[in-house]
Amino acid sequence: METTSAFQGLECRDCGEEWDAAETTHRCPNCEGILDPTYAYGEIDLTRADLDARPFDGMWRYEELLPFPRAAAVTMDEGTTPLVPCPSLADELGVGEVYIKDEGRNPTGTFKDRGHTLAVSAASQHGASDVALASAGNAGQAAAAYAARADLDSHVFLPSRSNFVNKAMVNVHGGDMTVIEGRLSDAGAACEAVMAENDEWYSTATFVTPYRHEGKKTMYYEIAEQLDWEVPDAIVYPTGGGVGLIGMYKAAREFERLELTEESPRLYAAQSAGCAPVVEAWKNDEDRHDPWETPDTICGGIEVSDPGASPWILEALRESGGGAVATPDESILDSAITVAQNEGIEMGATCAAAASGAWQLAEDREWNGDETVVLLNTASGNKEDDILRSHLMGKGI
Ligand SMILES: *Cc1c(COP(=O)(O)O)cnc(C)c1O
Ligand SMILES: [Zn+2]
Repeated sequence: METTSAFQGLECRDCGEEWDAAETTHRCPNCEGILDPTYAYGEIDLTRADLDARPFDGMWRYEELLPFPRAAAVTMDEGTTPLVPCPSLADELGVGEVYIKDEGRNPTGTFKDRGHTLAVSAASQHGASDVALASAGNAGQAAAAYAARADLDSHVFLPSRSNFVNKAMVNVHGGDMTVIEGRLSDAGAACEAVMAENDEWYSTATFVTPYRHEGKKTMYYEIAEQLDWEVPDAIVYPTGGGVGLIGMYKAAREFERLELTEESPRLYAAQSAGCAPVVEAWKNDEDRHDPWETPDTICGGIEVSDPGASPWILEALRESGGGAVATPDESILDSAITVAQNEGIEMGATCAAAASGAWQLAEDREWNGDETVVLLNTASGNKEDDILRSHLMGKGI
């Protein structure tokens, strides 16, 4: 296995055991806990000047803080997405500045590419011939794309309600697609059953592979650099399984540890009121969520009724001084349209939970008037353009 010099291995979030990344591929062999890549931070010599001098040419520019070297990566130069100022949104929210981190500008149109460049690189390094996962849609499309690039076969299990573009593009990339009647949990069960018969397939599922949150760390590195090392006061994130939120939480601590930044932002999880297990746990001051019984939201990317990493998500919200907010689908879709009409930016319907959540936080008087707030647009508006258009038609427009 080809690894970077400071990468140490994989640490179990539950029992604390350390594992050799060359041998252990997924969950903790002791306790099935989530594994997290670790580094010898003292050996990483990375300054602001070093990073400022590098071209802004994709997330692998942070290779010292990733497990594999850029030269060994399965990459399409994903990442280094724009951080777009949104002055009219800042006025409306009553804060100093708002920026949208536009992850729609990734190779397959979502931030799922950041997780998959790493997870498929790992699959390749482990000598896998196939990757597999169940997904609400965007991760499946990313898996098919990166597998194609690595010359691996992909097996993607999608619920019937996945977006058309996801299904179409899994086919276009040559993936083997299984569409399951029902929701993400049904697709998950179908995937597990097939994987039990094919245990040499490499799973790129969230928090099953140790590398998806690791790839998403880079969103935060970029935000800090794009704001000239002035850490934003708050980041609002459309939260399903919490992979990106946890990644950014980890990244913020790493940058502080390396003395690249002096502070960390407050992290806010935004969910749809139709499936808000993290918000519910937050409100009740719990350390773990209760599964959401009847998920019902049009925001497929964040319809995760049983987010297994919720203790880590809740820790990130607590330790960063942030919070959690749920808004109804109606407000989420309205927010996507408001942003499109006032700022021009095409937010995915799912992603607009971040905008809608920021509005709700303004109503809840969470902002004091001068902060810098970053909203994550996790996917391009094109992924869900039909949903946004139908919402207008529902209003007779
Ligand atoms: C997957 C996805 C999310 C949720 O991501 P997590 O990190 O698992 O919470 C949000 N938005 C979009 C568009 C997604 O595809
Ligand atoms: Zn363990």
